[in-house]
Amino acid sequence: MDDSVENKEELIKKVVRGEIALHEIDRLAEAGDAVEIRRKGIEKLEGVSLANIGSAKIDYSLIKGKNAENVIGMTSIPIGVAGPLKVNGAYFAGETYVPLSTTEGALIASISRGIKAINASGGSTVRVIKDGMTRGPVFQFDSIVDIEKFLEWLPKNFKKIKSAAEKTTNHGRLEDIQPLVTGTNVFLRFTYKTGDAMGMNMATVATEAGCNFIEEHFEGAKLIAVSGNVCSDKKQSLINSINGRGKTVVAEVVVKEDVLKNIFKTDADAVNNVNLRKNWAGSARAGSATQFNAHFANTIAAMFLATGQDVAQVVESSSGYTWTEARGRDLYIAVTLPALEIGTVGGGTGLPTQKEALSLMNVCGPGNPAGSNAMKLAEIIASVVLAGELNLLSALATRELGKAHQKLGRNKA
Ligand code: NAP
Repeated sequence: MDDSVENKEELIKKVVRGEIALHEIDRLAEAGDAVEIRRKGIEKLEGVSLANIGSAKIDYSLIKGKNAENVIGMTSIPIGVAGPLKVNGAYFAGETYVPLSTTEGALIASISRGIKAINASGGSTVRVIKDGMTRGPVFQFDSIVDIEKFLEWLPKNFKKIKSAAEKTTNHGRLEDIQPLVTGTNVFLRFTYKTGDAMGMNMATVATEAGCNFIEEHFEGAKLIAVSGNVCSDKKQSLINSINGRGKTVVAEVVVKEDVLKNIFKTDADAVNNVNLRKNWAGSARAGSATQFNAHFANTIAAMFLATGQDVAQVVESSSGYTWTEARGRDLYIAVTLPALEIGTVGGGTGLPTQKEALSLMNVCGPGNPAGSNAMKLAEIIASVVLAGELNLLSALATRELGKAHQKLGRNKA
């Protein structure tokens, strides 16, 4: 046994004997060995095999200190493609395959059929109509009299707060601070342009600097938390839906009568009727506040997993509205996503399979100019959401949903 093997065996024994904390192993062994030592220690302790979790070929130094702690391996989720999809965006104009990671049989097939109909209709027309990542700290004050003074002080000092915040980042730009008052609490919703990054770390660090400036220059303002939930990160909220968070995107297409007939065996009135009664009346009756759609979350989750987005942000990124109109015998359909939180740099986007998935769409890494790759990705994702909505509404109109899931989700022809 060479020294490194001996060292590994010794460290595994220490894990089993509880003599070493799992995170300490990162200090004592290189990244790949640390992952193996932790996994083998846990296997011995729990009497289970974690061979598949340990089977991925990846340079674990890419993850260390960035994406996860106490790593023991990788999870594997199938990744499929749909497309090519024709997108007519302001940033992305052309065709692209789209990567989707899911374990829900029938999802990729469903999106593929939606894409076929969109392509046959000339592609999706898509625009990002608003862009801004938010962080919303909460300050405590003694009384409304102080708060009144603070609300006068804030806009007069915006430039100085902006300057303090922007010292922490090259790409982050503070655009706005929206105050919201509740009793002695003042919530400040900081909104940033974040280039190609989704921007949550960037906005948090910058907001901390802005908050420090406020505390130092306005007596009586006490920062309670840099996130006071009006951000709102990883939570459904009307503020995200109304004001937007990340990218606010609208994708639309007019599907001709013959396309509806040939691809979906349905017509505009039938699809429009399902949309109004399901996505609008049904969602209202169920008390949904922000999700008047059929299954945005399916597409968003699958694309987020494939491309290294923060999957917890599926929560608000999948809020949104599906609108349809029967235009004569043709169908107009649009999806509006108020809070699509995505990036092409930072977070999980730098990991190997995620990078490849972004490269497949030619949106990997920083854009030229900065921010353009994230805009392209937002346009593509919204267009795929459109495909998913078009197909599901059509499948419901012709009562094929159960059949498709029996065949593709349960392997029963
Ligand atoms: P990040 O990796 O923390 O920051 C992006 C980095 O990319 C910055 O260092 C930025 O530099 C740099 N960069 C290079 N080229 C860029 C370009 N073209 N556009 C924008 N930035 C560019 O990523 P993030 O998007 O800010 O944060 C994402 C991570 O935050 C995810 O891992 C997510 O899970 C996590 N997250 C954090 C919180 C939190 O509260 N902190 C909450 C939710 C999620 P400059 O900054 O110098 O411009």
